[in-house]
Amino acid sequence: MKCIYCRKLKDDSEFTKEHLIPEPLGGHFVPDLIIGNVCKTCNNNFGLFVDAEFTSNYVIAQKLQLAELALFDKENPSAVSLICMGNSLLSPPQMQDNEICEHWTGPLGEIIYWVRPKDERLSGYAGGNPRTTKDQKSRAYFHFSERTIKYPKITWLAFKNAFKKRSTVKKILNCVINIDPKTIGFTDPDDLDQLRMKFFSDEHSANSIRQVQYPFNPNVGYRFLAKLAIGIGYSLFGEKVLETSYAKELYRALQCRDGDNIPLIHGFFDSSKNQDIKNLGEANTVTIIIQIVDDKAIFILNICASLYAIVPFAATEDLNQEDLDKIGYGRVIVICKPLKNSYKLSYPDYLNYKCGNLQHPELAAISERATRNQEYFSNL
Ligand SMILES: [Zn+2]
Repeated sequence: MKCIYCRKLKDDSEFTKEHLIPEPLGGHFVPDLIIGNVCKTCNNNFGLFVDAEFTSNYVIAQKLQLAELALFDKENPSAVSLICMGNSLLSPPQMQDNEICEHWTGPLGEIIYWVRPKDERLSGYAGGNPRTTKDQKSRAYFHFSERTIKYPKITWLAFKNAFKKRSTVKKILNCVINIDPKTIGFTDPDDLDQLRMKFFSDEHSANSIRQVQYPFNPNVGYRFLAKLAIGIGYSLFGEKVLETSYAKELYRALQCRDGDNIPLIHGFFDSSKNQDIKNLGEANTVTIIIQIVDDKAIFILNICASLYAIVPFAATEDLNQEDLDKIGYGRVIVICKPLKNSYKLSYPDYLNYKCGNLQHPELAAISERATRNQEYFSNL
């Protein structure tokens, strides 16, 4: 079998299931976009370095966190993610030159300071190099927000879930509570932790403004969008689409490194450009729209009706009628990770739903829950 990303022929045993849509965007709930033609090496490397770079990017992670909170299920609650805001300018006691203090926030404005080894080479990654810093020892200091007291369950679950895959992070709760935090993975503070806890508490009472440095990378997203374009092209049209000259551009973009000229894959990612395309997405979901536009098959990746990318994934000159019929007047997949589901519609049906001409109880249930929660949280 040939891997769709590295194009190497490998033994069947070297392949694994690839979620074209990463897990934080709800990829587990989109069976049509789970494929088997990706080798374990690519799955691992691209998952850690391309998918994670995209989904942990502050702008995107923040939208996803808001969606999780908007659709929070009070009866059957699950943890809302923390997001990395960048590097704090604070310098807690005994922080070494080779360490940084990363500033994370929880769903209700909780603050977490994570003192961990610095990683110059991959400073744009929340949490550092996902491969090497994973096993390094570090300490994180968790603080409640003013809103925690109104709905402690949300904070508690978020804190319990935090750094779950990083067992080497020592979690310290810098707040007083009548439940033992050790039951959710926290550790008793030692002398150094006591010093730092006092430092953070003093900082919080002295300053209400927190200064954070966010490492800005204008290229973020290009490699991920190219990868998704290759995957969607393959899942619709098979191997032949990967051999075209347009696919070569996508492969160049996928391999793009900082400082390289970004190949012209015609995609762009913008939160402000076109309100109509923003509104085309469903709030609190990831909406994918696949269409033929002019001489290209394109997808629109719309995140929470707020951010979008338009990426051509094949040239129509490389497609036959049967291929074009697969797209027809357009296809839409609405992915709702907090509700653990995805919904498929034709583009005309989707537009009719958006205009109120067509009933879709499952999509309507998403916005109904968001409205109910909004009322609930506004009382918090
Ligand atoms: Zn591969």
